[in-house]
Amino acid sequence: MEIARRQLGENTRAVHLPPPPESAQRPLGTPIYRTAAFAFSGAEEYAAVLNDQVPGYSYSRIDNPTVDAFARAVAALEGANLSRWPAAQAFASGMAAISGVFWTFARAGAHVVASTALYGGTYSLLRNVLSRFGVETSFVNISDLDAVRAAMRPATRVLYTEAIANPTTAVADLGRLADIAHETGALLVVDSTLAPPVICRPLEHGADLVLHSATKYIGGHSDVTGGVVTGPIELVSQLRATRIDTGGSLSPDDAFLLRRGLETLPVRVRRQCATASVFAATLARHPAVAYVDYPGLPTHPGHELARRQFDAGPEGVRFGAIVTITPYGGRDAGLAFVTRLRLAAPATSLGGTHTKASHVASTTHRQLDDRALSAAGIDPGAVRFSIGLEDAEDLISDAFVALEALGR
Ligand SMILES: *Cc1c(COP(=O)(O)O)cnc(C)c1O
Repeated sequence: MEIARRQLGENTRAVHLPPPPESAQRPLGTPIYRTAAFAFSGAEEYAAVLNDQVPGYSYSRIDNPTVDAFARAVAALEGANLSRWPAAQAFASGMAAISGVFWTFARAGAHVVASTALYGGTYSLLRNVLSRFGVETSFVNISDLDAVRAAMRPATRVLYTEAIANPTTAVADLGRLADIAHETGALLVVDSTLAPPVICRPLEHGADLVLHSATKYIGGHSDVTGGVVTGPIELVSQLRATRIDTGGSLSPDDAFLLRRGLETLPVRVRRQCATASVFAATLARHPAVAYVDYPGLPTHPGHELARRQFDAGPEGVRFGAIVTITPYGGRDAGLAFVTRLRLAAPATSLGGTHTKASHVASTTHRQLDDRALSAAGIDPGAVRFSIGLEDAEDLISDAFVALEALGR
């Protein structure tokens, strides 16, 4: 029942402002539902929405329209089925997405098979956190399919890999890994952060779930953190249930930025791939460079697989934009190289507009001694580049000037 506004006190009138208009015209930008709570038509609807009996929004940790708009957009780009809800789940970070997957699909007594070449946070989660909850992980070289098959057990719930590993740029054979996972009833979960949906759609190759640190290519501008997981509704609904209970939900403001990032994802990623190809090929010919890891180089062990698995698009570029350069001279040479770069920034993260360089052994993989580095296939001198949107010639001359200092 309407209460006459003029009968109300000034504070009540201030709190009970007229609601914002609902536009009949579809906004082209994504509206930001910056609200923690939603009001219902009455107590019945309140209960029905909270009990998932009717679709709707109640509380933004549970679901939020802006966050859903982002998650659904990723599902569309990954080729997931959009006809039923929820097609995807968004999280506050890539690690929230990854931990959400394990909280949902592993349990005490379960076993996980994971690649040895994992993002450090994921490795630590499996090794140091999930192990305390009775989840055991076997780490295997994901390119050695016999070793992967041998590591699988009846208790294995998840086979976990990255589509392109960082910094080795090893490429995972998703189709064959899906077959191996499914032989024992496990799920193949793919972290495709380094191979965003423009170039790779793991669901098309048989993966059960694909996830991203949206902080990287999806956001694309190094100004937001987020994560997202998509796949079939049966799995995504279970993931939603644990996200609601564990609470790593994405904020509507960040969902806005991430959804906006998707609009330019193909333009950015194709351009970054094209620049990375030229950068890798040119640096590979420099006399101070021992070798270059980049799936686009014919010498890369995963080159043929990458050609088959990654989508070249109209521009014919598809090998990602992470290039790892190993100069001659070991750790000191790597440090000297990265220190003398002027355009490529010494910065964490990857996938943004700025080219970033990191000396792997002293930064992202600082926990590994030289022996562990070599087991992971990483030279102590390796420098990982995340190629941005600068002009290729400028990045190449920056690297050449820095390499001159190594005196080869
Ligand atoms: C950065 C990254 C993550 C973690 O994502 P956050 O958004 O930093 O939590 C996971 N996997 C890969 C491959 C990454 O590069």
